[in-house]
Amino acid sequence: MRVLALLDGTIVDPEAPLFRADDLGVMRGDGIFETVLVADRQPRELGPHLDRLERSARLMQMQLPERAAWERALQAVIDNWPWDTDPEMALKLVCTRGLDEGDGTPHGFAMGMQIGEDTRRKRRDGVAAVTLERGFAPDLMDRAPWLLLSAKTLSYAVNMAALREAQSRGAEEVIFTATDDSVLEGPTSTVVIARGRTLVTTPPSSGILKGTTQGALFRAAEQAGWRTEVAAFPTSALFEADGVWMCSSVRLVTQVHTIDGTAIKADPELHAEISRLYESNY
Ligand code: PLP
Repeated sequence: MRVLALLDGTIVDPEAPLFRADDLGVMRGDGIFETVLVADRQPRELGPHLDRLERSARLMQMQLPERAAWERALQAVIDNWPWDTDPEMALKLVCTRGLDEGDGTPHGFAMGMQIGEDTRRKRRDGVAAVTLERGFAPDLMDRAPWLLLSAKTLSYAVNMAALREAQSRGAEEVIFTATDDSVLEGPTSTVVIARGRTLVTTPPSSGILKGTTQGALFRAAEQAGWRTEVAAFPTSALFEADGVWMCSSVRLVTQVHTIDGTAIKADPELHAEISRLYESNY
């Protein structure tokens, strides 16, 4: 199931061609995107997602259609989604730099997609992860802005390759590590650990994407009396933690039960509490 809208709010056939072969998004992955969860017609964390889309565009030095256009397209998709049969969708907002040798007009769309059984299983049963090197130091972002660390660009081929590597090692998630062995993030998720009643995540200044799901979880956790910290930690901290989660808009707060083939603490009650905290936002 797909529902596709252009930025003027027109609904178009999701199976019809939309992009020219010389679009820079197609030729070079030169563009940006966001994925928003919409549950019961309500987009979650829409403000932070649109803020992040604008931040990615700034880092890319790319023109971005105005916010109202994204909101119009998003609403058209929501209005045309079959809510009676499918109460959740993943909504992608995609924008490319436009045509090669064009006038710099960006091309964007919004597309609603069904959430698959695989995602529901990960939410329910948790995941095994492997740690994989990402190959950069945590202080690289400021020194080398052209590497676009922390921008959500369409160039996700490396992230997808890492997930295939995880599968070849019998796992289904990846925790990327920096050259100093500190934890970074997953290919499509933010890492959160629990130490007693403190939740810790890794700092966006290390070149990772600032997660909207982690942000929502921390907001609710603080209100419920948990402490929260944004601080670097080494890979060994994953094995010593009271719980490890991978947070992302569509998979929500997914518990990690195994890392590099070793079972880690994965208390079902703690997981239920963390999930309830996140859901209490909505
Ligand atoms: N880190 C990366 C690299 C991602 O691609 C994503 C989302 O896809 C996240 C973290 C989690 O972000 P969010 O919770 O906003 O979905």
